[in-house]
Amino acid sequence: MGTDLVFHDIFTKHIMSKGHPERPERLTASLDYVTKSGLLSGSKIHLIEPKPAIIEEITPLHDENYLNLIKSKSAAGGGFFTLDTAVNKYTYDAAIMAAGGGILAVDRIIEKKTENAYLLCRPPGHHAEFNRALGFCFINSIAVAAHHLHDKHELQRVLILDYDAHHGNGTQNAFYSTNHVLYVGMHQDGRTLFPGTGFPNEIGTGKGKGYNVNISMYPGAGDKSYRLAFQEVIIPLCISYKPEFILVSAGYDGHFDDPLTSLGLTTSGYAMMNSFLHSLAEEHCDGRIAVFLEGGYNLDTVAKGTRNLLEELSGSPITRFKDTHTESETCTENNKALFDQLKANLKGVHF
Ligand SMILES: [Zn+2]
Repeated sequence: MGTDLVFHDIFTKHIMSKGHPERPERLTASLDYVTKSGLLSGSKIHLIEPKPAIIEEITPLHDENYLNLIKSKSAAGGGFFTLDTAVNKYTYDAAIMAAGGGILAVDRIIEKKTENAYLLCRPPGHHAEFNRALGFCFINSIAVAAHHLHDKHELQRVLILDYDAHHGNGTQNAFYSTNHVLYVGMHQDGRTLFPGTGFPNEIGTGKGKGYNVNISMYPGAGDKSYRLAFQEVIIPLCISYKPEFILVSAGYDGHFDDPLTSLGLTTSGYAMMNSFLHSLAEEHCDGRIAVFLEGGYNLDTVAKGTRNLLEELSGSPITRFKDTHTESETCTENNKALFDQLKANLKGVHF
């Protein structure tokens, strides 16, 4: 059945300002790179063009007046939501196309038309709140897809694993009081990075208590701490939760060479996480996994990460890159203490 690579030209037409790090080249450079690698010429990966989401698929996650505001600002040719989050005339169309891409991807996986999917999309979505654009995000595509899996396909347990360097505040808040979605964020400690949220004591409320997990990494955290996080926290969480579908918010901004953050992952670290996630999907949910691009601002890293991810999803040999980075012992020790604290916070629910 293979792997869907979901992409549409409209994703490259949304531009926030000259020199903005969240730029169309993040997609075009990645697509050029994987095309030149020959990965797309085989029979395993299929380039799929989505359709826009319909408004009723988005309104459970976003206020209709807010959506109309994005639409009217786009129609007017541009406008700001925050100092670094702005629209041009294509933004609304690109954002609803990205949301539609997520819905198409999960539908095709459920219907067994494809095994898994990667959405090479922008604008990203995980910071977008119910009625607020934030952090380069307008519509929370992964949240729309998770809601669709519950509402239309009646899934009761969807895991969202967000390894973007920034906390996925919008996704956390969308599902904070439900156990239909288990949100797990792996991100740089909010005391040191935008949006300043995503702490270990934020574990959900009501029915959702224990179904929101923030692995807020000490700055400098790299492959070693991320591997330990999977072994100590994420694999046991999956054994406890038994997800029926895994959605991933992928951000390549945790790479040590990213200009916006202070984490220490390498391309091999990303490949390791993708391998863990793919195996968890095989083990728990018949391989059902869809990955959404969020951040990542070093074009080379995004391109290589995209290549490795597509290789993983399509069962192709993984290209090894030579970038290396070593985290400090202090960092590892701090993160180990964090994992112990998280397990204590979730005791009785998952541990
Ligand atoms: Zn990010």
